[in-house]
Amino acid sequence: MLCPLPSAKLGTYPQLMGRIHVLSESVANKIAAGEVVERPASVVKELLENSLDAGSTRIKIQVEAGGKKLIQITDNGCGMVRDDALLAFERHATSKIQNAEDLLGVATLGFRGEALPSIASVSRLHLETRAPDEDSGTVVEINGGKISKVEEAGLPAGTSITIRDLFFNTPARKKFLRAESTELSHIASLVTHYALAHPEKHFELHSATNAILVAPPVAGSSERVYQVFGKDVLDQLIPIAAVQPLAHVGLPQPPPWRREEDEEQGPVEPGEMRVHGFVSKPEIQKLNRNSIYVFVNGRLIRDRLVQHALIEAYRNILPPTVYPVVLLFLELPSGEVDVNVHPSKTEVRFRQQSVMHDFVRDSVRAALMQARPVPQFMTAINAHPTAGPSLTPGSRSVPGDSAASRTLSAAAESQTFTLQARVPPPITERFHFGVDGIAVDGNAAPSLVRAPQVVSEVIGDDNCAPPLPEESEQPGDLTPSLASLKPLGQIRDSFILAVNHEGLWIVDQHVAHERVLFEKVLKQRAAQKVDSQRLLMPLVLELTPAQQAVFAEISEELNQNGFEAEPFGTRSVAIKVAPAGVEAPQIEHMLHELLDQFSREEQALNMEKVRARIAASIACHAAIKVNMPLQQNKLEWLLAELAKTDCPMSCPHGRPVVLRYSMKDIQKAFKRI
Ligand code: ADP
Ligand code: MG
Repeated sequence: MLCPLPSAKLGTYPQLMGRIHVLSESVANKIAAGEVVERPASVVKELLENSLDAGSTRIKIQVEAGGKKLIQITDNGCGMVRDDALLAFERHATSKIQNAEDLLGVATLGFRGEALPSIASVSRLHLETRAPDEDSGTVVEINGGKISKVEEAGLPAGTSITIRDLFFNTPARKKFLRAESTELSHIASLVTHYALAHPEKHFELHSATNAILVAPPVAGSSERVYQVFGKDVLDQLIPIAAVQPLAHVGLPQPPPWRREEDEEQGPVEPGEMRVHGFVSKPEIQKLNRNSIYVFVNGRLIRDRLVQHALIEAYRNILPPTVYPVVLLFLELPSGEVDVNVHPSKTEVRFRQQSVMHDFVRDSVRAALMQARPVPQFMTAINAHPTAGPSLTPGSRSVPGDSAASRTLSAAAESQTFTLQARVPPPITERFHFGVDGIAVDGNAAPSLVRAPQVVSEVIGDDNCAPPLPEESEQPGDLTPSLASLKPLGQIRDSFILAVNHEGLWIVDQHVAHERVLFEKVLKQRAAQKVDSQRLLMPLVLELTPAQQAVFAEISEELNQNGFEAEPFGTRSVAIKVAPAGVEAPQIEHMLHELLDQFSREEQALNMEKVRARIAASIACHAAIKVNMPLQQNKLEWLLAELAKTDCPMSCPHGRPVVLRYSMKDIQKAFKRI
C-alpha cells in the first residue's frame, strides 16, 4: 500500500510552487535559524529535496571525491524561469510558502528559502534550468556567493545544479570534512533512503568510478527494497501498513464569528494517520539506531518520540541493548506536524504526540505479532526489569481479540517472570576478586562485591588451622603466573577454573581464545601470511550502497587478511577465500558488521585501526564459543597459548580475560589474616 506523498501530488505542484518571492522579515524571523550546509551530504539533501518539491520523476546525482570536488544533480522537474533562477539565490526567497500561516501546514520538503544561497556562498555553483513551457532556459554561475554569469541557453526541461569545490573559500569548514569514503557513504545512504521513500520515481547515484545506485521506477516499496538491497534484506523484513482516523480532540476551534460560515461548508475533517514500511524480524539485531529510518510526509527525520514508540514495540522481543532495522513512512495531515523546528528540517513536532506515539507502537507491534508470536523463553530471557504494559490515554490497546491485546498479555507475563527471576543474586556477587591490574576493564569491578559481613559474625576466628605462608601479591608481569596455571575444569562449559600458587583463577574461554587469535592474526598480517581457506562455494554478499563505498576502500586490507573477493553483479561481491577458522555464515555476518562499523566512522579511515578491527573481528568469529565443553588437554593448551600473548589481560574489545581470587583474599575470607 502506498500513501500519497507530497511529491506524488504532481498535478498540484505548479500552483504549489508558484513564483519565487522573498519572504517578509516577520515571516523570515519565524523560521528556525541556523546553518544547513555542513557537509557534502547536507548539500545533496537540500538539492534532492528541491528536485522532489519540483515534482521531478527522474533524479540523477553524480559526485566526485565524496562530493568534496563535485556534486551534480539533474532533474526533470518544473524548472525555473529566468527571474526565478536569479531570485532563488536571495536569502529567504522561496516559492513554497507565502506567509506565517503557511508555516503551520507545510506540504513541501523545503520552505526556508535558504539552501541555495547558503550553498552558493561556499562553492562554485553552476545552474542550468528551463521551465517546460518556456522556449529557452537560463544558465547562472556563482562563485563564492558572487554571480559571475547569467545567460540564456537552449536546455532540456528541468534543472541541473553543479556544485564544485565545496568550502573552497571557507578553509576552516573544509578541514572538518571526513574521508571521501565517509562522505560518499553518507550521501549513498541518504539517496538510497529517499529512493526507498519514492518507489515511483527514477533515482541514480554515480561516483567517478561506480554506479552506486540505479533505481528505475517500480510498483511499490517491497519492489524498491528488493531493487536496492536485494532479496536477503527483504526476507528479513516484515511489511507494515495501518491507518487510523484522527480524532477531533484538541483541534483548534474557529472563532465564533466564523463557526456559522464553517458549518455551512460542513465540518472540517480531521483526516487520518497512515503508516507503511518495514520492520525487521527479531533475529535481526543492530548495535545502534543507525538502521532506523523514519519519514514523515516524505521527509527523513530523526525523532525521539517515534524512536521511543519503536523501542516500546520491540520491548521483550529484542534485548534492550540492541536495535531493529526500521523503514517507516508516516503520513498525516500537514497541520498535524510542525516542520519548522530545526534548520536542517530533520526534526518535527507532532501536534498530538501521544496519539502518534501509540499509533506507531501498536501498528509495529501488531505487525511483529502477526509475523511471529513471541516465544515464551524469549520473553523470559529478554525481560527488562522495568518492562510493563504502559497504557497511555487514547491508546488503541484495548482488551479483545486483537494483536494489541496479545502484546499486552505477553508484556504482563514477562513482568511476572522478571520479578521472580531477579530474587536470588548471582553467586559471583559474593566474592571479591582482587582486580589488581588483572581485570583491566573497570566494568569488571562493580559486579564483584565484598563477602557479606554476616559470615565473620557467625564463624568467628577459631585459629585451629596451621598458618599459611605469607604470599607476595605482585601484580607485575602476568605471564609467569598464567604459565603456571593448572585447569581444574569448566563452569557451565564457559569459564575455565584454574589454580596456581597465587590463588584461584577464572578465565573466560571465549575472550581468552579471542586474544590469542587476535595477536596471531596481527602477526601473520605483518608477515603477509594470514591463514586462509578456500570456500567450497563462493559466498555472495549483497551490499548496500554505503557498504559498497567502504568495501572499495578496505578491500586491499581485507585481501591482506586472508580474504579474496570479486565484484559480482552491480551490488554484490563474491567471497572465494576467507580467513581460516571462520565458518561461512560467520564470514557474512562479520563482513556486514565491519562494513557497517566503518561506514559510520566519522573520522577518515585510519588503516592501522582498520587492520586492528579486522583482526579483532576474525578473532571474535573464529574463537571458541561459550557453552562449549573442552577436553582437559584443550584447556591446558588454551591457558598456555594465553600465557604467550603480549597482552593477556583483556580481549581486543577491552573486556577482561581473567579474574583472580588471590591467596590473600582467600585467607582474608577465611579469617586467617
Ligand atoms: P526552499 O526549498 O526552502 O524554497 P531553496 O533555497 O532550496 O529554498 O530554493 C529556493 C527556490 O528555488 C525554491 O523555492 C524553488 O522555487 C526553486 N528551486 C530550487 N531548486 C529547484 C529545482 N530543482 N527545480 C525547480 N525549482 C527549484
Ligand atoms: Mg530547498
